[in-house]
Amino acid sequence: VTRLVLVLGDQLSLGLSALSSADKSSDIVVMAEVMDEARYVPHHPKKIALVLSAMRHFAQNLRDDGWQVAYTKLDDQDASKSIVGELMRRGQEHGTTKVLATQPGEWRLLEALENAPLTVTILPDDRFLSSPDEFSAWAEGRKELRMEYFYREMRRKTGYLMEGDKPAGGKWNYDHDNRKPARADMLRPAPMQFTPDEITEEVLDLVEARFGDNFGTLRPFWFAVTTGQAKRALDHFAKHLLPEFGDYQDAMLTNDKFLHHSVLSPYLNIGLLDPVDICTRVVEEWQAGNVPINAAEGYIRQVIGWREYVRGLYYHEGPEYTARNHLGHDRDLPPAYWGGETGMNCLAHAVDQTRAEGYAHHIQRLMVTGNFALLAGVDPGQVHDWYLAVYVDAFEWVEAPNTIGMSQFADGGIIASKPYVSSGNYINKMSDYCAGCSYSVKEKTGENACPFNLLYWDFLHRHRDRFAKNPRMGPIYRTWEKMNEDRKTAVLDGAARILGNLDAGRAV
Ligand code: FAD
Ligand code: SF4
Repeated sequence: VTRLVLVLGDQLSLGLSALSSADKSSDIVVMAEVMDEARYVPHHPKKIALVLSAMRHFAQNLRDDGWQVAYTKLDDQDASKSIVGELMRRGQEHGTTKVLATQPGEWRLLEALENAPLTVTILPDDRFLSSPDEFSAWAEGRKELRMEYFYREMRRKTGYLMEGDKPAGGKWNYDHDNRKPARADMLRPAPMQFTPDEITEEVLDLVEARFGDNFGTLRPFWFAVTTGQAKRALDHFAKHLLPEFGDYQDAMLTNDKFLHHSVLSPYLNIGLLDPVDICTRVVEEWQAGNVPINAAEGYIRQVIGWREYVRGLYYHEGPEYTARNHLGHDRDLPPAYWGGETGMNCLAHAVDQTRAEGYAHHIQRLMVTGNFALLAGVDPGQVHDWYLAVYVDAFEWVEAPNTIGMSQFADGGIIASKPYVSSGNYINKMSDYCAGCSYSVKEKTGENACPFNLLYWDFLHRHRDRFAKNPRMGPIYRTWEKMNEDRKTAVLDGAARILGNLDAGRAV
């Protein structure tokens, strides 16, 4: 009996469970570029182009490998608008209702497949080092679900950077060594970039015509669109950037969008790269003595720690996770996030870079755009939609826990033991943004004071019932209490002015 084998746009791996369980001689691979997926948030044009071009290249690969592929292009006349619609159409064409699928990375699609009037077998997505069930077993009975402990389990399980049952070098985590600000004169190679081929050019024209008005610059488009290219990007990163990855992991520079970051998340998340390939390579570089332990450990922690942890959490917490709003925040996302005017240089810079590349590194996402949205009390649902739309690597299973949980504290502290908030000091220490800003990071009150300086205390003051008893935040509250009353009033008045301006739609 012929079965349909569904391959989604972020499942472009030859070892995908649905493909491994299928029969090349009788089953038909279904791949579809559908409007519902391209449009449910206003995705960055580079993100749409990456997924569509990588899908078309992958389909070609499958055909070369002997598979029959029923491929629907976005502009095909008889295309239906949804994945389930396409499965039904192909099912009718080939006289079957049986579908093999790999678990999608989003509750919305999982539910659509489960409710489809077809016989859908959903297989686990084994392109991860741990399964959602393993995560839930680990979470069972724990009071706190801290990444660090999950990560240690993953180190033991994979054996990466282990010496027997001990962590290599004697410590599990070298984060303390990884907080150096970067000097502007450091010369670094950029991540590897690729020239679009004919398939990509055709996709770029299509995306320009259909999604040209979305936030984000389409050209120049330079992402890898095949596994071969993504492996070259990994190789380039491992040789040239990994050795200093740890040291400057938290740094931000105006004229350097990527620093030592790998920009491999887009490839990992759509399946062009596998976490095992990446980690094996990192461990090899460390074993060869080319990379210090703080860099190797820092990188491995992101991939087998954070990435696996947030995925486990996404499935563990269930479909309503994205609607959480623990702090009751309801302000609209300021227009500055879509490129509207702002005097805040750090925010303008993070947004400009996001528009140009569909990329910002972790500290820009967490401590600039995320920090400001949290301090300003923006509705976490709107923040979530923004991150999901504007980053090339954004897929809900990874974006939502990072945004709702880590960045906005909207899950009430499952991921973060305290909110990731800071005054302008932190940004000043880790970046060169403040020198070019219309605000002064040194000024703590008054019209010219950095908005982070004002909103930071206002946030803590507003939420004191929630946070004052947190042992890690006690000292901060004591500093606030010790401040003289005039200064406190000036801070709160300044914050009220900024929030009032946001509410009135005025630029901040
Ligand atoms: P590197 O710094 O080179 O890190 C290496 C790899 O580790 C990344 O490629 C990524 O796969 C993984 N990684 C690192 N940090 C995390 C993390 N916190 N969670 C999961 N994986 C991680 N990452 C996404 O892949 N997709 C998202 O949609 C996404 N949204 C985010 C939203 C917010 C608000 C925040 C604070 C973080 C988000 N992240 C997301 C995590 C992180 O910022 C990106 O993974 C990282 O910036 C990708 O760039 P890179 O490949 O250069 O990373
Ligand atoms: Fe950002 Fe404040 Fe520095 Fe301006 S002064 S760049 S707003 S941290």
